[in-house]
Amino acid sequence: MSWTPSREDFDRYMLPNYSPQRVIPVRGEGSRLWDQQGREYIDFAGGIAVNGLGHCHPKLVEALREQSEKVWHLANVYTNEPALRLAKSLVEKTFADRVFLCSSGGEANEAALKLARRYAHDTAGAHKDRIVSFRQSFHGRTFFTVSVGGQPKYSQGFGPVPGGIVHGEYNDLATARELINDDTCAVIVEPMQGEGGVTPATPEFLEGLRQLCDDHAALLIFDEVQCGVGRTGELYAYMRYGVVPDILTSAKALGGGFPIGAMMTTEEIARVFVVGTHGSTYGGNPLGSAVALAAVEEISRPEVLAGVAERSARFRQHLEALNETYGCFREIRGMGLLLGAEFNASFGERGRDVLAASIDEGLMLLVAGPNVLRFAPSLVISPEEIDEGMARLDRALSTLTG
Ligand SMILES: *Cc1c(COP(=O)(O)O)cnc(C)c1O
Repeated sequence: MSWTPSREDFDRYMLPNYSPQRVIPVRGEGSRLWDQQGREYIDFAGGIAVNGLGHCHPKLVEALREQSEKVWHLANVYTNEPALRLAKSLVEKTFADRVFLCSSGGEANEAALKLARRYAHDTAGAHKDRIVSFRQSFHGRTFFTVSVGGQPKYSQGFGPVPGGIVHGEYNDLATARELINDDTCAVIVEPMQGEGGVTPATPEFLEGLRQLCDDHAALLIFDEVQCGVGRTGELYAYMRYGVVPDILTSAKALGGGFPIGAMMTTEEIARVFVVGTHGSTYGGNPLGSAVALAAVEEISRPEVLAGVAERSARFRQHLEALNETYGCFREIRGMGLLLGAEFNASFGERGRDVLAASIDEGLMLLVAGPNVLRFAPSLVISPEEIDEGMARLDRALSTLTG
């Protein structure tokens, strides 16, 4: 037990499908983390929009501890109280009538796509199987979801991809209109693309997709795995747009760091998933459900949701100021606390360099592609932590450009 793992052990024991930073965080509290040497970091990454309430939020710790002394796991041979409480809460807070629980975002999208195919199959016939998605989108890494995603570099080289999937341009209603027809069973879209570069949908795009889906009896799926659960200042981004999907997927901040996913839909659509059509061993696991219920209840508090806009404005002010100093950004975009700052051509594709320089200054950041800095902090990060983190980013940019 005296052995302490190091970053080199990643290269020794783990599959080389990631390239983690060289520091290993060992403890977190709110929007701060500490590494093995006790160095402190401000966290603007939030575990890729997962730690919506920061690290070790007291309400989540309490929910986990309490449930951990009752029952950890039952499988879906039984139901359990935390899963039912979570499902009731999500139904009461959203358009949905029914909830399917699983363990990740990819799994939630897999369920959504299968449900859409099955619904079309049962109500219209087997020919209605086309799925419309958009370039630069990200929907997960299962083979179906990665094929539906709009980034071929993630789906190529694994053999034949599932058929019946077409891709349009994001925020371009004209090409969507060409692709969506009576053979379309579903249109899947992120109301704000996260991995693809932090790009919000225009209201006209989502409204137009809703109309096209209605015209062709296709289901509209909103993938809110990254942009949902308070990130935009509403519990779900669809509420901000006033466009209601038929199926909504949620994960990431839903569990605040505990792996959980959810797919939500209406009574009418849900009924085609009869006993045996789909399942997940860990779906609705009591531990995950208890933590997610605590996260959803906390993030739904009006003070927490209202605080997102203030914090977002503070982030933007700092980014504008950095841009005045360094002239590095072409565009600062996003909504709420999912923000992106795209480098201009003269600064170049130096996202990874900025991440490394920021680590040296005690700041954790994200990128979304080679030339976009991405900010997905805790929704309850303090103004002081935002200021301090931005001072560290300033020093990192100064070192890089100096
Ligand atoms: C992260 C993400 C997923 C995949 O979620 P996992 O939990 O990694 O499976 C799907 N869709 C979007 C929009 C995401 O950001």
